[in-house]
Amino acid sequence: MKIAMLARNAELYSHKRLKEAAEMRGHELDIIDTLRCYMNIASRRPEVYYNGNNLTGYDAVIPRIGASVTFYGTAVLRQFEMMGVFPLNESVAIGRSRDKLRSMQLLARDGIGLPVTAFAHDPKQTEELLKLAGDAPLVVKLLEGTQGVGVVLADTNRSAKSVVEAFRGAKVNILVQEFIKEAGGTDIRVLVVGGKVIAAMKRQGAEGEFRSNLHRGGSAKSTKISPEERSTAIRAAKSMGLNVCGVDMLRANHGSVVMEVNSSPGLEGVEKATGIDVAGKIIEYLEKNAKAGATRTKGKG
Ligand code: ADP
Repeated sequence: MKIAMLARNAELYSHKRLKEAAEMRGHELDIIDTLRCYMNIASRRPEVYYNGNNLTGYDAVIPRIGASVTFYGTAVLRQFEMMGVFPLNESVAIGRSRDKLRSMQLLARDGIGLPVTAFAHDPKQTEELLKLAGDAPLVVKLLEGTQGVGVVLADTNRSAKSVVEAFRGAKVNILVQEFIKEAGGTDIRVLVVGGKVIAAMKRQGAEGEFRSNLHRGGSAKSTKISPEERSTAIRAAKSMGLNVCGVDMLRANHGSVVMEVNSSPGLEGVEKATGIDVAGKIIEYLEKNAKAGATRTKGKG
């Protein structure tokens, strides 16, 4: 196969591993800087250009589009889809997962367990919003945040109100969520590839930290998940329409709940914690599924 990987930084662990795994299996993989692609939008003749070359002849495209370039990145990916190139994850599914409210609404629609979550637009509704989310402690999250930045724990109703008002004053979108205290600063990251769970790890936040993000000093180790957690992760992936994703879950007293579904999961933490060749499994998925014109949406929707 000839594979294009849309990524900004060729040196990242995940990107190097995917290239290595593809080459080990006899494929060719070109890393293409998403933001340096340019396109013509002509009737029935979609093309993508890069460094003066028309990008043709690819069997599959691996989108590794950072959160900050979602808008342009999904446009480039859509162009590949219109050319009939098989995407590891479709642009439409990536768009869904990048929008926290949209993805929680889709998961809720499909009956997937979520933390109690509330959101509102108007600052006048702060009191009502907090009432909907329940009593403190509460977690207030910036909708555009990543890697735990903009995730605040408010211990009392009064501090929750101040945090909501401060974020509102800064004109940013937020949601308010029940704090799953019993998770004890840990969460579960489950890797789903092609409707199957291929790896799972438990992340533990640094001492005194309720956020378990590895970028915030958290550590990871391999974990066994329950059959319910396995089925929840698979259903969450399906509900987003993602072939490959990392499903983040919190172990709550009332069962494990989904916090987020990540369409470009990092491979370093999970490969090192579990010893599983996640990159190899992703390439294997493409070998089985990448056929010209097999894109479900062809960039529609
Ligand atoms: P980001 O997308 O920025 O990583 P998350 O929503 O994943 O933000 O939150 C970061 C971390 O904070 C999570 O990995 C988890 O450990 C912790 N966390 C988030 N929401 C809750 C919650 N409702 N209850 C308990 N811990 C939470």
